[in-house]
Amino acid sequence: MATTVESLAAQSAPATLKNYINGQWAASTSNERLVVPNPATEAPLAYVPLSNAADVQAAVDAARAAAYEWGEMPPPERAGYLFKLREAMLDNREALAKLVTTENGKVLSDATGEVRRGIEVVDFACGAPTLLMGQNLDQVSRGIDSEMVRFPVGVVAGITPFNFPFMVPMWMLPLAIACGNSFILKPSERTPLSSQRIIEICEEAGIPAGVVGLVHGAVETVTGLITNPGVDAISFVGSERVARIVYETAAKSGKRVQALGGAKNHIIAMPDAVLDQSVPNIAESAFGNAGQRCLAGSVLTLVGEARERMLPRLLEHADTIKMGFGLDAGVSLGPVIRGEARERIHTLVDQGVAAGAKMLRDGRGTGPEKGYFVGPTLLEIAPTSPLAREEVFGPVLSILYAKDLDEALRLMAETNEYGNAASIYTASGSAAREFKRKATSGMLGVNVGVAAPMAFFPFSGRRKSFFGDLHATGRDGVEFYTTKKVITARWF
Ligand code: NAD
Repeated sequence: MATTVESLAAQSAPATLKNYINGQWAASTSNERLVVPNPATEAPLAYVPLSNAADVQAAVDAARAAAYEWGEMPPPERAGYLFKLREAMLDNREALAKLVTTENGKVLSDATGEVRRGIEVVDFACGAPTLLMGQNLDQVSRGIDSEMVRFPVGVVAGITPFNFPFMVPMWMLPLAIACGNSFILKPSERTPLSSQRIIEICEEAGIPAGVVGLVHGAVETVTGLITNPGVDAISFVGSERVARIVYETAAKSGKRVQALGGAKNHIIAMPDAVLDQSVPNIAESAFGNAGQRCLAGSVLTLVGEARERMLPRLLEHADTIKMGFGLDAGVSLGPVIRGEARERIHTLVDQGVAAGAKMLRDGRGTGPEKGYFVGPTLLEIAPTSPLAREEVFGPVLSILYAKDLDEALRLMAETNEYGNAASIYTASGSAAREFKRKATSGMLGVNVGVAAPMAFFPFSGRRKSFFGDLHATGRDGVEFYTTKKVITARWF
């Protein structure tokens, strides 16, 4: 049966999810499991098994067995499966968005956007025959020709975070299989339901047994995958701490790795920023998805008169934000993922205040009684504050002041070791150009608060936000999921 909000509600009791191995849904052989609640209501939705080494081995064996034939299939034929997957995903997009809202907490409009952005990667992967073309040079030397040909890497494992339970698995799966690899997904144990549905849709689209697999779980499951000799490549997205562990461990096991880590994104607002559009856009960057985006604006540097122009408007805007369950009408801010996440955010805010931050708007303790809510919170901070440096991952916006763009760029570089995203709000082309050249992050927004590249471009975080060489999506994704051979030939 399809995993939907309706099918979950119709169950007499929450069920334990199954793994998908060799085209079959199979119970994990582990007895350990965690409850998956709706973070807006705390009502249990399902249990997720914490799969063990035997489950991982079975998934890897099935993926290895399927890899050869899938990799030998002509790319246009493989693309045929991607077109079917795209249609099936589009047919399910509304149900998918409702599922994302229910397990993650983000409001329906955000979930709808997430689903669209995920399907966009299938659009891109449908171009596999073009994307997989190699290169050649005839007559590289007299009577000798050279060509570069791409091959699949083999078995790829994808390990994903809770905050984009549909989109992040979709950064990986469509492109990995379009390139001829088999793919095993280990979704976040906090949001496993969207992945469950992704794999069901792959099954409905007729993707052959073993080409996609699903193993639920947590640390032990990940360790099993990143050290397994049958896995050739690891795509990881999550916190900086775990990205570093996964990068080092998988690389030591001889695998190619791309590990996308945490973030601390700065926004600079210049005195000439266009207020009516900038204020809601900055608020959306900071508070949308309850601040649980790796591209969320977390520090806002107001330059010169931007302080007087923008701050009162931002505070007014924050007061209009209504918290609740994201499927309910009029709600613009959902909960954070768990009670522990809320406690962590409260503690970080406390530490900021203890270090001298001035509270402008305290959202803690506000919102519905049930659910893990934190309201929009704004503080004035000093550059030395922990709130200038540490990822908060909640709806908290810390404000710095600078006299000019030079000082704002210097503050950004000095306080922030991450390098995911940064944005500038300005009406000046020359300020935007200066920002583009000097900002230290890999994804930049000009009057755009969540500068998420479309699937045709790489998701190009850097510094502490990315470990590896080739990013997710875009041509980087194709390079990551293929290996090259260069043939030099002459004929006697
Ligand atoms: P997380 O690091 O806690 O978990 C990510 C995955 O790693 C999960 O599947 C989890 O089961 C697994 N995991 C957790 N601890 C592990 C360990 N010790 N060893 C091996 N595996 C382990 O991340 P999260 O809380 O789910 O997601 C939020 C984080 O992800 C934030 O830091 C956010 O910035 C980051 N993120 C980054 C990007 C990006 O593109 N750079 C995108 C989305 C999220």
